Amino acid sequence: MELNERQKKIIEIVKEGAPVTGEQIAEKLHVTRATLRPDLAILTMAEFLDARPRVGYFYTGQTLSTLLSNQIRKMKVRNYQSLPVVVKESSSAYEAVCAMFLEDVGSLFIVNDQGLLSGVLSRKDLLRTAIGSQDMNHVPISMIMSRMPNITFCRSDDAVIDVAELLISREIDALPVVRAKGDGLEVVGRITKTNITKAFVELAGGTDE
Ligand code: ADP
Repeated sequence: MELNERQKKIIEIVKEGAPVTGEQIAEKLHVTRATLRPDLAILTMAEFLDARPRVGYFYTGQTLSTLLSNQIRKMKVRNYQSLPVVVKESSSAYEAVCAMFLEDVGSLFIVNDQGLLSGVLSRKDLLRTAIGSQDMNHVPISMIMSRMPNITFCRSDDAVIDVAELLISREIDALPVVRAKGDGLEVVGRITKTNITKAFVELAGGTDE
């Protein structure tokens, strides 16, 4: 069977982004949903595409693994991030330990006087200080934190899988989620290995909780 140009384009769109809704295909092709209806009907009847109610169109020749990786690519940081725990650079190492316990987190994001991201402080940064001979009350965290511009961060619309790759390649546990503010970055969230583990469980259909 000979496909017309639009039908070929529809197949390309579905291959790339399955599952895709009719609405999304129409948007990409700059036509109305009604214009597409006959093409979608033909492609579904000829079994190029498979339509699942409330989910969208799949390309029938697509392997499970490409479907899964498409779905993983669509998972965005904004849907999995948690609230950030932010501490001022002038706080002491002792105060940072307290904040970690009280807030039950393993990484603190550090901000300067303007409230802009200036560093990250992890458990090991504090342990290193604790095994030194300094008094934790007198060590400012600005002295022991990892600092900008060497901070790895992400934005809410980044893909979760890209964050996961950064956590692995940089050997860290958490990234601040930021947005631009003035000439710096404002911390709006936190994404950690725990958030990504939850995303992984959700992908498999959720927990029994
Ligand atoms: P832990 O120290 O509890 O194992 P991490 O593995 O996250 O936690 O931290 C390891 C080191 O990397 C620490 O020195 C920390 O300051 C630094 N670090 C943590 N997160 C980041 C980040 N997002 N960007 C840059 N450095 C970071």
